[in-house]
Amino acid sequence: MNLETPVLNLMGVGPFVAKKLNRLGIKTLGDLIYHLPFRYEDFSNITPIAKLKPASTKASRSVSKSQAVLGFSKKPILNEISCIRGLVKDIESTRAWKKQMEITTAIVEDSTGTIRAVWFNQPFMEQNLRVGQEVYLAGKVKLGKTGLFLSSPIYEIADGSRDSRHTGRIVPIYQETVGLTSRWFRNFFAKNLNQIIGSQKEFLPLEVLKQYNLLPFGQAIWQAHFPESMETAQKAKNRFAFEELFLIELFVLRERMKINQQKSPSIPIKADEIKKFVDSLPFKLTDSQRKCAWQILKDMEKSGPMSRLLEGDVGSGKTLVALIGALNCFKNGYQSAIMAPTEILAFQHFKTAAILLRKSKIRIALLTGKRDEIISQKLGYEKDGQFMPETIEISRTKILERAKKGEIDLLIGTHSLIQDKVKFGNLGLVVVDEQHRFGVAQRAKLCSKTKSSQGLIPHLLSMTATPIPRTLALTIYGDLDLSLLDQMPQGRKPIITEIFTPDEREKAYSFIKEHLKKGEQCFVICPRIEPRADLSEAHLGLPLGRSNSWTNAKTVKEEYEKLSKEIFPEFKVAFIHGKLKVGEKEKIMRDFKNNRTQILVSTSVVEVGVDIPQATIILIEGAEHFGLAQIHQFRGRVGRNDIQSYCFLFADSPSKNTKARLSAIIKAKNGFELAEKDLEIRGPGSLIGAKQWGISDIAMASLNNLQLIETTRTEAKALLTKDPFLRQYTVLSQKIANFGQRIHLE
Ligand code: ADP
Ligand code: MG
Repeated sequence: MNLETPVLNLMGVGPFVAKKLNRLGIKTLGDLIYHLPFRYEDFSNITPIAKLKPASTKASRSVSKSQAVLGFSKKPILNEISCIRGLVKDIESTRAWKKQMEITTAIVEDSTGTIRAVWFNQPFMEQNLRVGQEVYLAGKVKLGKTGLFLSSPIYEIADGSRDSRHTGRIVPIYQETVGLTSRWFRNFFAKNLNQIIGSQKEFLPLEVLKQYNLLPFGQAIWQAHFPESMETAQKAKNRFAFEELFLIELFVLRERMKINQQKSPSIPIKADEIKKFVDSLPFKLTDSQRKCAWQILKDMEKSGPMSRLLEGDVGSGKTLVALIGALNCFKNGYQSAIMAPTEILAFQHFKTAAILLRKSKIRIALLTGKRDEIISQKLGYEKDGQFMPETIEISRTKILERAKKGEIDLLIGTHSLIQDKVKFGNLGLVVVDEQHRFGVAQRAKLCSKTKSSQGLIPHLLSMTATPIPRTLALTIYGDLDLSLLDQMPQGRKPIITEIFTPDEREKAYSFIKEHLKKGEQCFVICPRIEPRADLSEAHLGLPLGRSNSWTNAKTVKEEYEKLSKEIFPEFKVAFIHGKLKVGEKEKIMRDFKNNRTQILVSTSVVEVGVDIPQATIILIEGAEHFGLAQIHQFRGRVGRNDIQSYCFLFADSPSKNTKARLSAIIKAKNGFELAEKDLEIRGPGSLIGAKQWGISDIAMASLNNLQLIETTRTEAKALLTKDPFLRQYTVLSQKIANFGQRIHLE
């Protein structure tokens, strides 16, 4: 039996239970014992019946000093539940006809006195408890007309042969599913945990355990499920937070070590050619763009692989920086690939590259899910002083053939670039745009599958507009080097942002009307597609248990109907969302780009990269459903030319909190500030989409404990310096390997 053993192979777990466990994401024994309680009830103090008082709050407790060093917080623990142990003297059910309610009352006695226990509409309680039985009861003490009583207490038959599980102690409360209650988990763990723990070895280095006063594995598991005190429960939790972040750090550092052991082509900087290209542009590079482009070119000169993250607000001009890298590759006879998360974006990059690089002989091709195009510059023509590239469509097979032969210099595409069929002749650079939309595995795959015949891997440039605090970035992005584009191109006016209350809707609409009449365009962003919970949009980073406000959130389809028919009948309104076909989406975006439609109602698909110069207003519905950094990104959709642009925020729940949170967007100077706020208020999931990560809730929650991140990172580094291949730490090494299969970091 090991932690990878499927739950179905465990004693006491049949197919029926296994299915339910699966529903909770529990597939293996490891998943099961790491299904930690999300809270506890403290029923540990057995109160003599004579001493019972109506429910009140107890004093708070705090974490110990050594644990506070790791940044674990001190949370007060409230407890209003009393627990008694006594003999059932009487039990019976009556029907309170007035209230249509069945009331079961038991009289329980200990050496100090008697008390009533009352259950409402739980007639089976009469079968569960029998007169003469010794029981634990835990519940709120209330004062009724005829004195004190225990209100719907939890019960457990006192059995001299074993410890109590559900009462008379600190009791774990688990995430449950239909037919699988906390009671089931307690019973399972009480029966099996000792044996399971016995078969597991500690895997954290002993010196680390000691230095940070962490509970050893077995104790931690036991104390998490059946804690002696709230303090030990917290200590157990802290151990798991430490453990998981430590594993993450070890994992990413080792991945980086692996990358560093590989070789990439050393690509010299063709300074003159780059200068010529930059001079040919219709605008001047920002100093930031210059600096970042230089860092990238310098990296690629080396024979060690570049692993760089280019971080910059929406509109800061990341694409151009990437194209400079691609151009330098081309001038040295190497190929480049740019991977974008959506077809729309891949297509846009394709056109941008075609236009900006038209004077060079670079051969560019587009490879997406459905549509394959190759472009040749000679086919382009000038129109109104603008170069219009003309594309020819060729078959996917031809593109793949040419890429393999090195006859395509720049291949731009979506996830389709990762397919096994795609091969390159001599790939020098891989660019991953909006990299938070891809996992580290996908990125690694794009790099590894493209090894040249000499075993060289391409340089990697990741790009993101999601500003992430540095420490967090270092963890989830491994040891990527960071380049910051912290300047916007000149001539961009700050976007005027306003929060509207529902009764100011008319005002906002008439303002929009005025601007549409002048030929400007408007985005309307809704949190959802259609009037039912569609989980495909779950990348909003919302917790899984969605609130009512989510199901009430405005939808693209309803807003489209309303705006096109009632509010703006004189304008063309269109809608777009992630579920439309690629061709449809492209047509819609093309129409919007060419101002054939004036209003585009959309989900967050326009979140990334799409460039519409005439769009000057973005109206965001249900703004409270989005992260601040994400709204900041939406806002970057407008303000692409020198006309004043606006961002209007509407919230479905106009609570004070919502308003306070949203107003940060008005004040913030850059995306960074907002990201830190998101981290603080909404947790790391809001920055990087929690779901796909495969890390535990505890680890997720710990990602905003920057102190703990730093500590685990330092320890992980120290360990790898001492023993790079973890030869002295075989259990740990195995653990990391398993862990690596489970998680998908950025
Ligand atoms: P993002 O960083 O969001 O990916 P893009 O690369 O899409 O931004 O650039 C946004 C727009 O700004 C594009 O139309 C691009 O051509 C333009 N642009 C890029 N650099 C500059 C610059 N230095 N001056 C003016 N416009 C620029
Ligand atoms: Mg972009």
